[in-house]
Amino acid sequence: MKEKVDYLLKSMGVVPSSFEGNRLVYTPINGTEIGSVQDTISSVKEMLPTIKQSTEAFNEWKNVPGPQRGELIRLFAEQLRIYKQPLGELVTIENGKILQEGLGEVQEMIDICDFAVGLSRQLYGLTIASERPGHKLMETWHPLGPVAVITAFNFPVAVWSWNFALAIVCGDSVIWKPSEKTPLTALACQQLFLNAVDNFNEKFDDVPENLSQVVFGGPQAGAALAESDKIKLVSATGSTQMGQFIAPYVASRLGRYLLELGGNNGMIVTPSADLDMALKAIVFSAVGTAGQRCTTLRRVIVHEDIHDDLVRKLKKAYNTISIGNPLDEKNLVGPLIDGSAFGDMELSLSVAANEGGTVFGGERVLEDKFSSYGYYVKPAIVEMPEQSAIVKRETFAPILYVMKYSDFDDALEMHNDVPQGLSSCIFSTDIRETEKFLSTSDCGLANVNIGPSGAEIGGAFGGEKETGGGRESGSDAWKSYMRRATNTINYSTELPLAQGIKFDIGD
Ligand code: NAD
Repeated sequence: MKEKVDYLLKSMGVVPSSFEGNRLVYTPINGTEIGSVQDTISSVKEMLPTIKQSTEAFNEWKNVPGPQRGELIRLFAEQLRIYKQPLGELVTIENGKILQEGLGEVQEMIDICDFAVGLSRQLYGLTIASERPGHKLMETWHPLGPVAVITAFNFPVAVWSWNFALAIVCGDSVIWKPSEKTPLTALACQQLFLNAVDNFNEKFDDVPENLSQVVFGGPQAGAALAESDKIKLVSATGSTQMGQFIAPYVASRLGRYLLELGGNNGMIVTPSADLDMALKAIVFSAVGTAGQRCTTLRRVIVHEDIHDDLVRKLKKAYNTISIGNPLDEKNLVGPLIDGSAFGDMELSLSVAANEGGTVFGGERVLEDKFSSYGYYVKPAIVEMPEQSAIVKRETFAPILYVMKYSDFDDALEMHNDVPQGLSSCIFSTDIRETEKFLSTSDCGLANVNIGPSGAEIGGAFGGEKETGGGRESGSDAWKSYMRRATNTINYSTELPLAQGIKFDIGD
């Protein structure tokens, strides 16, 4: 597998030996080593030169016109189009998601780049009616500064690109700290960006050095970025615990953060639902990416009249799912990221059983085929008598809890009664139910007749409550990467005060 990784990296212009170091990287496919990187940062002090370089790059880049900044991202998207296959394969090998999803992740990068290119000509503010004669009131948007992007292992490249493409067209510089579990894909992305910079500089020659930097390291590297007041936005994606750790650091210096944290996504299935559609949506969103998406479906709340039928069909569908090597196109479910993820899954299933759940599936499989370090599991369905404590927790593995309801209002209440608020959905053909759901769900994403996962880049992505409140990607998420100024311009010969205040200092 290492030879294959070296080949993929080299095909994208990365020389793996130039980055080798203390941190070993393993593929979840069979647990073998596929490379290594050198941790660059472990303390605030070590981070300072990187931040200084980023500030210098920002001071130049902010003066480049927006559409020209968009051109750089257009050229980056060109690289992603050329190298979609090797980058997608590398994502699959390093992260374990099936190749279709690895390629889908790169497609998502291309999509956000295209979006950002258009955005680079649309960074506009409002003009506002002034209450004073001869005055103009408007708001303008300005580049913010160095942005730190901390990412999780499960979307090793797409989440960075959501932040990166917007930050670059908004005139910011970026320091990326990828997950310590997926640094090789970060190396590849950085190289593809540098290729785009070379192409850009042939025409304009004004991309400053260090506009994009990648730092390797564990939580300390993330914390060092969070602490520095030179970092104008900390955009961090990961567990709720990580957000709870980082937020106070940034808040203590009154800095700005954007948090994309854990989810515990639910679906309500009502008696009028198209059950075949619901079934397909449940299976894709519960077992896709081996249950390791922030938007993975974790809770189904189904009406008691259709509960048994749905559960029977679900179990039948689960029995047909092919689990195995994610590079093999016939498989729909690859491995968990590592043994610790499997340990969490086992623990949650045993707690669920203690809390009255009936567990179907969940056992480890294919141990003999992929060595004891490849953690493949049969996705689990757990019928729960109620929404107990374990159901309210996010276990980052393919566990689907199924609960019954009889009254629709109770289903809505149960749906919202978890600490997280990322994605949600309803399957129903009754417009009264669907509209009530959309106005009641307390999540950042609320869908009708479609599962909770697999969002498009055009909308703002993120969630409420313990999910952190951040919004990334489409819509007006770009505003997080810019500084807003309200400007009042007086083109009259008088100096009238707002609110009609008189303040006469005489002649
Ligand atoms: P994680 O929290 O273990 O790590 C995420 C990143 O944060 C890594 O780069 C890690 O090094 C860093 N980090 C961890 N602890 C830190 C600390 N104390 N200080 C500074 N940095 C720290 O998460 P993970 O296991 O990589 O990813 C899975 C989690 O991410 C799940 O909870 C999932 O729901 C969440 N996630 C959320 C979204 C979203 O958009 N809401 C997207 C992807 C993943």
